[in-house]
Formats: sequence, structure tokens, C-alpha cells
Amino acid sequence: MKYETVIGMEIHVELSTQTKMFCGCANAFGAGENTLCCPVCAGLPGTLPVINAAAVDYCIMAGLATNCEITRHSLMDRKNYHYPDLTKGFQTSQLYYPLCRNGYVDIETESGVKRIGIREIHMEEDAGKLVHPDGQSCSRVDYNRAGVPLIEIVTQPDMRSAEEGRVFLETLRNILLCIGISDCKMQEGSLRCDVNISVRPEGSEELGTRTETKNLNSFRSAGRAIEYEAARQVDVIEGGGRVVQQTLRYDDATGTTSALRSKEDSHDYRYFPEPDLMPIVVDEDWIARIRERLPELPETKRIRYERELGIPGRDARMLSSSRRLSAIFETAMAAGAAPRAAANWLIGDLMRMLKDRLLDTEEIGFSGEDLAALIALIDKGTISSTAGRQVLEGMLDTGKPPSKLVEELGLTQISDADALGEIVKQIVRDNPKPAADYRAGKKKAMAFFTGQAMKRTKGKANPVLLQELFAKELKK
Ligand code: ADP
Ligand code: MG
Ligand code: ZN
Repeated sequence: MKYETVIGMEIHVELSTQTKMFCGCANAFGAGENTLCCPVCAGLPGTLPVINAAAVDYCIMAGLATNCEITRHSLMDRKNYHYPDLTKGFQTSQLYYPLCRNGYVDIETESGVKRIGIREIHMEEDAGKLVHPDGQSCSRVDYNRAGVPLIEIVTQPDMRSAEEGRVFLETLRNILLCIGISDCKMQEGSLRCDVNISVRPEGSEELGTRTETKNLNSFRSAGRAIEYEAARQVDVIEGGGRVVQQTLRYDDATGTTSALRSKEDSHDYRYFPEPDLMPIVVDEDWIARIRERLPELPETKRIRYERELGIPGRDARMLSSSRRLSAIFETAMAAGAAPRAAANWLIGDLMRMLKDRLLDTEEIGFSGEDLAALIALIDKGTISSTAGRQVLEGMLDTGKPPSKLVEELGLTQISDADALGEIVKQIVRDNPKPAADYRAGKKKAMAFFTGQAMKRTKGKANPVLLQELFAKELKK
């Protein structure tokens, strides 16, 4: 029997507001233990929370960017559970009236565009963090993260493979980065994803029993976890067993999942409306104001790049998907670079360089102006495009401007016909066989000759001039 994998995700995103969700403490990562907390976020008795309007704005932004309806009258709820890093004994969250509902995100899959439903986006707060110091027989609690604003994005069970899951996460992250509400760093936990997975016989309409896998800290581990867990469930079913609904923990080192706890239902948490906070009433004006603040979204950008700038579909998608990449692209054009040239450098060579260095597009340090300057150096014939690649590498690694790199690396192109003429003569003299081939009509031999000249000049010869000189020399 063939099985189909069904995936739904719950994604927690830490919002990059200045202050926390319910108090004035700074919202920052990496500060000294317990330096960013107060009686409110530590949940001491007698304190009262006040909601951070900026966090509500950000949640609405996320909702609008993912085509959600905004709930006009929403409430916060208490989700009761005990945990050492949650001194209040409950998490302030939303169950009954999430702020955003019924949206979608379109993703590009191998078989075309696929729509992934967003069931809801709700607001909540993060908990503190347990620290287990090496070699000490105690654990410590750091409350800096307690009360950091979060949104939880819950999808419909619309994904069908690890690949779709990965692409969805990437697309969603790009949207969130584009609207600027979070830095979305999976390694630092500002974007955390729980994956619900079930399998069912292909063709079946009914959903199978699912498990929920936590602790995924990269796109790659999300993909691997989906593959592992779906295969494990098929094995259980094929072996005559039944999948147990439970929460699993993914171990990145072994690539396997293991049971964390049995799955709890919402009634286990004894949710009830938070009595200490006012209802959140969102009117038309508020939504309109947020809509105005939304930047151009990746999808709109893609269409503009394709239609107005003539960038091919795949390239346009890639450029528009990343906030940093599209910013560099647009600044380069503003600084005079031709769209196609700028796109080519960013997509082809740069992507490979980033991959080699395990860098994310967000980490590109050079500017669009620098890219435009690089393209101009090539257009003017100061450097060859081969040398251009070296310069781009230097820009990425050192952040130095292209003119400086050309100087430092000694890449100025040799466009001096006398200097090159000498080399050309020598190469033709040293290679009688290819020369004879060329004269007999094998024009392909030209590539051999220019290749030799490039080797001797360390890629610095002007290729157009080289061709001319070789053609002249070989006619003799
Ligand atoms: P809970 O209330 O336990 O959190 P939800 O119904 O809210 O469960 O669903 C949580 C997530 O699990 C959603 O992303 C949803 O799409 C996904 N999900 C629900 N049922 C299944 C299933 N059978 N297989 C895969 N994913 C599922
Ligand atoms: Mg849930
Ligand atoms: Zn505080």
C-alpha cells in the first residue's frame, strides 16, 4: 500500500518589539541572566499587565501579509500549566478569539503553486529559560525571555511532503523578514517550528493519527524530521500497530524522534479569559494604518520584477524572496546597473558563494551601490568578468568596495594591444596543431587560444581584444 504524508505546522515567532508583551522591560537577546525582568514579567502577585500595542500591530501585520481576516474583538486567555520557567503558573495566550484567522500562503513547489491555509495567528508570551550549567548539580532559571512577545502561526494540514514543509517554512520566514516583525533566527529560537505529522493510505480522505515533533532548529532538520517520522509511522501501521498521538522530540544528531510526553488537549490547560487585560478592539482605521505600513511583499515584488524588468521567473522569485537580496538588487539598479546584469550576478555567482560559506542571503554585507560599481568596472573593460567573480568574492568576505579590491588583487584588465599581441604571437607559435585546425575551419580552436592567453595573464586579458588579436594572428 502507498501512503501519503500529511503535515500541519505551528510556528512560534518572537517579535522584535522594543519592549516585552506586558511590561516595559527591554526585549533583547543575549543579555546577562535575569537583567531584563521586573515584577510583571516575573509574575509576582499583585502586578498587573498592560498589553504592548506594538506587538498587536506586528501580529496584525503578519495577518495581513498572510491574507488573514483580522478579528475585530479579541481577548487574551490564560493557559494554565506549571513549569519552573513560568512563574505565573499560566501563559497569557489566545484560544477563543485569535487575532488573525483564515489566511493562506502560496508556495512554489515542483508541481506548481500550492496554497497552504493559515488557520490562525494568535498572540502570546514566551516563557523564561532553564539553564543547566555543566558540572553543577543545579539548574538555573533566566527570566529575560519571560514575557517576550510571540505570535503563533497555525497552518491547516495542507502540506504533503518534507520538501513542501521546507519550502513553506522558507516562504513564511521570507514574508516575516520582509515585513520586519522578527529577525526569524532559528538558531537563536526567534523562529521555532513544531511539526504535526500523520500518514494515511493514498486516496483516503480521512486524517490519520498525528504526532507533534518539537525542537526543530533549522529548515534542514524540519525536513529530515518529517521524513523520519512519516517513515516511522508507516512502519508502525504496516507492523499491525497504531500510531499513538503524542509529542515527540527531534534529535538532530541522530536524525530520530523520541517520545517527550503524551499529547495534551486544550481542555487539559483549563483555559479561561484573562481577567487582567482589556479586550482588543481593532477597528477599520487601525487595520488601514497597518496596511499602509506594510512594505511591498515578496509575491508582489516577484510579479513586478518579471513584468516590468523582464527578469526570468525563477530568478525573479529568488530575488524577491529575500529582503536583503531584493534591497541590494533595487539599490544596484538605482545606481545605474542594468536589471539583467544585476540579477545575474546576484543569482548565479553569489548564490554559489553563499552556499560554500554556509551563509544566508540576510548576511550579505556589501551594498547595491558596490554591486553597481562592480558591473560598471566590467562594462568599461577595466576588469574581465572572470576577475569580477574574484572581486565579488572579496566584497562578500571583506566588505571592501570593488575599486579597492581590483587594486589590491591586481586585477586591472590588460587592454594594451601591444602587451597582449606579444603573448598572442607566442601562443600561436607554440601551438601549431590547433593553429592548423583553426585555419582549416575549426573555429572552436579559438576557445583554446583565448583560454591559454587567460592562463598566462591570470585571467586579466581583455577577452574581446584577445579574440581580435588571435583572429588577426591566425590569418597570417
Ligand atoms: P491542537 O489543538 O492539539 O493544537 P490543532 O487542531 O490546533 O491541534 O492542530 C494543530 C496543528 O496540527 C495544525 O497545524 C494542524 O494543521 C495540524 N494537524 C491537525 N491534525 C493533523 C493530522 N491528522 N495530521 C497532520 N497534521 C495535523
Ligand atoms: Mg494548537
Ligand atoms: Zn518586565
